[in-house]
Amino acid sequence: MKVTLTFDNGPTAPVTSKVLDVLTGHGVKSTFFLVGENLTDPANRAVAERAAAEGHWIGNHTLTHSVQLGDSPDLATAEREIGEAQRLIGELATPGQLFRPYGRGGVLDRRLLSRPALVYLQQHAFTCVLWNSVPHDWDDPDGWADACLADIPTRDWSLVVLHDLPTGAMRHLPRFLEALESLGADIVQDFPPGCVPIRDGRLREPLDHLVVD
Ligand SMILES: [Zn+2]
Repeated sequence: MKVTLTFDNGPTAPVTSKVLDVLTGHGVKSTFFLVGENLTDPANRAVAERAAAEGHWIGNHTLTHSVQLGDSPDLATAEREIGEAQRLIGELATPGQLFRPYGRGGVLDRRLLSRPALVYLQQHAFTCVLWNSVPHDWDDPDGWADACLADIPTRDWSLVVLHDLPTGAMRHLPRFLEALESLGADIVQDFPPGCVPIRDGRLREPLDHLVVD
C-alpha cells in the first residue's frame, strides 16, 4: 500500500514551515503545489525555497486559484493562470514542470480544464498531476486525518490532497503520519500513473471527461 502526500494552495509561511518540520521529522518527501501569486510575499518565497532545498517537489497550482479553467475556457486565462504562475515559480520547479489544476471541492469533472489549457500544457511540456484521495482537510480540520486513514486502505496507491493553509488541520499531521507508519504504508514521493494524464507534455490517456466543450 503506497501513499503520496501533496500540499496545495500554499505556501503560507507559518503553516508551511510547520509542515516542513513535521515531514522532515518523519523522513517524508512530498510535493507542494503552489498558488503563484502567494510567492510575491518574500516570507512565502523563502519557505518555498526551503521546501525545494529539503528535497520536496514544487508544482504549479495556478496563479490565483480563483477560476476553474473550464469555467473560463480562453487561451488568455490558460496563459495567465498556468504561465504566469510558472514564471513566478521559476527555478524552484522540480522535477520538470508539474501542474495541478484547481478543482473546486476536489471534484474531477469537465470544469477542470479547457481545450486551450490542454494545448498549453502539452506545448509547454507540463506534467499534469491529479489526485484520488481528498479528505477535505479544509472543511473538516479535525476529522480529515481519520477520514483519510479509512480511505487509504481502499486502494493500492493513494495520492492525497492536503492544504498547508491556516485552517488548523495541519496540527493533526504528526498523528496522521504516525498512523500511516503503523498501517505499514509506504510513503513515496512519486505519483500513481493513473493520476498523471499528461507527462512532459505527452497525453497518456484521454482527458475528454475533464475538459469543457
Ligand atoms: Zn487548490
